[in-house]
Amino acid sequence: MCASYNPAIMYCALCRANTPSRDVEYITMRNGRPATIAVCIKCGTKKFHQGVPR
Ligand SMILES: [Zn+2]
Repeated sequence: MCASYNPAIMYCALCRANTPSRDVEYITMRNGRPATIAVCIKCGTKKFHQGVPR
């Protein structure tokens, strides 16, 4: 994995906007599909995103 990955822009349910993320983690769900979990840089809410954001 690339160490200098750009902060993923992901939708935050609390901010109701696409915000940068920290602690981005790429996981594989039980059905084998990729997913991304991260923490909103603005409000600290945990985000969950199906698939990998570009
Ligand atoms: Zn947020």
